[in-house]
Amino acid sequence: MPNLARRMGRAKPSVIMQVAEKAKRLKAEGRDIISFSIGVPNFLPGEHVYAAAREALAKDSGQYGSNRGSDALLDAFIQHLDGLGLTGYTRAHCSTGIGAKHVIYNLAEALLDEGDTIVFPVPYWTSYMDIAEIVNARVELLQCPASQDYKVTPAQLEAALAKKPKVFLFNNPSNPTGMVYTRDEIAALAEVLVKYPDTWIITDDIYNRMLFDGLEYVNFMHVRPELRERTIFIDSLSKTYGMPGWRVGFMAGPEVVAQAVTTLNSNHITNLPEITTAAAIAALTGPQDVPAARCAEFQAKRDQVLAALAQIPGVVCPRPQGAFYVFPDIRCAFGKSHGGVTIENDVDFCNALLEAKGVACVPGSAFGEPHAMRISYTCPTPQLAPGLARLQEFFAELR
Ligand code: PLP
Repeated sequence: MPNLARRMGRAKPSVIMQVAEKAKRLKAEGRDIISFSIGVPNFLPGEHVYAAAREALAKDSGQYGSNRGSDALLDAFIQHLDGLGLTGYTRAHCSTGIGAKHVIYNLAEALLDEGDTIVFPVPYWTSYMDIAEIVNARVELLQCPASQDYKVTPAQLEAALAKKPKVFLFNNPSNPTGMVYTRDEIAALAEVLVKYPDTWIITDDIYNRMLFDGLEYVNFMHVRPELRERTIFIDSLSKTYGMPGWRVGFMAGPEVVAQAVTTLNSNHITNLPEITTAAAIAALTGPQDVPAARCAEFQAKRDQVLAALAQIPGVVCPRPQGAFYVFPDIRCAFGKSHGGVTIENDVDFCNALLEAKGVACVPGSAFGEPHAMRISYTCPTPQLAPGLARLQEFFAELR
């Protein structure tokens, strides 16, 4: 049999999906499983979204659509950008994709030649690494441990940018940590970014409206508008609107980049489906009470998770202020054992926790930080307290 392309040796299946699959399998075998693994919002979009999809279905033209996204969808996205204080974009600055993941993949193809350097902070969203590896980019990681609240410092950024990487990829609020940069922190990083004009900046801000404690969303472009000429903003309907399966992602940035993504679309996907497009427009332009209500609910769940973790001696957890993840440092468990099973690292920990207590979490190494694990608290609310109690029990039983 002929070989697969060399790039497939670098492409790995998502660890998050593997954990979620294992949890699903154990559940199907009759085990009582509580999943804190996958970052799927546990709510559906409003009825107006389904109504728009039904209407589009009834009127379906059955035709190919625009490679960039329909005019009405781009206009709805531009209106959304205005709401975020990112004004002045036109359709020519924007493009769409089958989810933000696809948009980021397209950007990697559009901006990075083989061997070009992409810089991003650790912990990172898993797919950043996988996508960089598939396009054969050189990855430079900025280590941001729990002791610095999982946030990159201006000095770290400066040291990396001085080497003139092609792309700096930034994610705020963060998956997996849930941390959110304050306006002052963003301003300090932006002061560094303006000094290095050879680097593209990608801001993956898909959790931009999942903010807690009254925090505001701030992008580098808010504090340094001149960064607009090389910043690419990413957004998605997956998390905010409870629409992960609808697969709608966006970018706004320089026209040349939006055109490149659109050209790739013309060869990969052609267009977003018409029915999905109608649903996406309804989500962006319709009542915004679903995202707001869910955000309040997530904030309460965040508090519940932090309160439970605070009772576990040795576990360190910076306080997240967005998204729906908590990323505790669990190294206090390493070198101990549970029911005779030795726990050397995060993967052992998550496996033992799932086997012994039926609680699924994702090992931190999936995000480049092997001292931690990710808890996604989007499970149904009644499952949260029992899941956390089992986690506490597990820690208490370590020897
Ligand atoms: N970026 C981040 C930080 C994410 O957490 C995710 C999904 O988990 C994505 C992008 C991809 O989102 P989408 O469902 O739009 O592809």
